[in-house]
Amino acid sequence: MSTENIDLRKQLQQHVQSLRGAGVEWAPLRPPLESAQPSRTAAQPVATTPAEVISPVSLLAAADAGTVLTLEERRQALKVLAEKVSKCTQCAALASTRTQTVFAQGPAGAELCFVGEAPGADEDAQGFPFVGAAGQLLTKIIVGCGLKREDVYICNILKCRPPGNRAPLPNEAANCRGFLERQLELVQPKFIVALGASAASNLLNTTQPLGKLRGRFHDYKGIPVMVTYHPAYLLPHRAPEKKRDVWEDMKMLLTKMGKPIPQKQA
Ligand code: SF4
Repeated sequence: MSTENIDLRKQLQQHVQSLRGAGVEWAPLRPPLESAQPSRTAAQPVATTPAEVISPVSLLAAADAGTVLTLEERRQALKVLAEKVSKCTQCAALASTRTQTVFAQGPAGAELCFVGEAPGADEDAQGFPFVGAAGQLLTKIIVGCGLKREDVYICNILKCRPPGNRAPLPNEAANCRGFLERQLELVQPKFIVALGASAASNLLNTTQPLGKLRGRFHDYKGIPVMVTYHPAYLLPHRAPEKKRDVWEDMKMLLTKMGKPIPQKQA
């Protein structure tokens, strides 16, 4: 087997493990592997019937033929994962006080992913991340970067709201870590922004303070990670003057992404 195929097989093995962990028992059957059919794009998914399914075990076999899961298959796996998260009760206290879980917002395959800390009251009520005051500020930051909110993927370290908006406890972050890892495996962002110390320390497995993590890129499984302040910290009653620092971080990110830097700050 070629080096390239060995890498593909390894990637697919990890992927299948994540699908299994997410409760995926099947995935849509694709055209015969390495068939003479022209390759299709994510915008042209193959229609499947309930009978046309393939097990993760068969997907492993498919890895030998040098293939990877399509964007549509990753979308489906994310749906299954979100469903599994919605029933999770690993953190008994959070599960008993949440209105609902808050999985994520944004498309699989997004180039950029923002990872925050945990849902707040608004997010817990609406079921989407970053929809309160801090979320509106995050949207301004995204737009200020010349991007669209609907094009980025947004999630949190924790999928359940800690009562009183307290910081996630270490055991809660550890419980939810597997979900985050699978999410990122399936979304496959090219860049990640960790919003706030809690997200940064969890994602990067570090105890360094945020001040020491800013201003350079870190690595999460080969993905460059920029660390910046959580938008909630930038609100008027806290430290709005730090918006300038966030803008500096975003400019560094945009440069790394090869995107133009808009003239005006968000
Ligand atoms: S925070 Fe994560 S691990 Fe804990 S109950 Fe919610 S979904 Fe489960």
